[in-house]
Amino acid sequence: MLGPPGSGKGTCAHIISELFDLPVITTGDMLREAASNETEYGKVAGEYMNRGDLVPNYIVNGIVRDRLMKPDTDKGFILDGFPRSVAQADALDNILRDKGVQLDHVVFIVLEDEKIVGRLSLRRSCPECGAVYHLTSNPPKTKGVCDHCGTDLIQRNDDKEDVIKRRLEVYRRNTQPLLDRYEQKGIVRRFQGDNPLEKIPGLLQKLLS
Ligand code: AMP
Repeated sequence: MLGPPGSGKGTCAHIISELFDLPVITTGDMLREAASNETEYGKVAGEYMNRGDLVPNYIVNGIVRDRLMKPDTDKGFILDGFPRSVAQADALDNILRDKGVQLDHVVFIVLEDEKIVGRLSLRRSCPECGAVYHLTSNPPKTKGVCDHCGTDLIQRNDDKEDVIKRRLEVYRRNTQPLLDRYEQKGIVRRFQGDNPLEKIPGLLQKLLS
């Protein structure tokens, strides 16, 4: 899944996961978990995340490699939030070569900056299961509580306005250049980021079949 922060990568990844019965590998969630457990790498990662900067490759690439070596990824997987730079895309190529698989699709989600800021500042997340809500367009059934696991919802530190701006800059500088690389391979599938939620499963099914 490729696209700016707040474009709906996570939501679409989970819908694709249900449609095709594939695990989602979300680097942001894995890094947030490491940060909240205060592991050695987690503490370093947390500092970068709170500023809206990319966590160093020696941490992220290792986490992704370990995860992709688990057998539940053998029939396919969805990468959400990785790769985010050309160096990470090179690392991914190496991991995929070692695993003997290739990328079939790069879902590139398109959304304008104004909509991104509106969306992220009203986003609330479940720290336990990773579910995301939007206070106006997709609120939880009970205010402040996750529909899936009953945990209290939070606003992520990096969903505050100044950090959102920084994340958008980082996205433009580091992540957007990846689009050319995958365009050349002919595997980019563009997807509009503001489709109504109920239409997304059908549209994604069509896009990826
Ligand atoms: P996300 O939940 O995907 O918006 O990611 C939140 C934050 O986690 C990012 O702003 C980065 O600080 C960090 N992060 C997530 N994925 C990566 C990655 N592939 N490389 C470096 N940092 C990442």
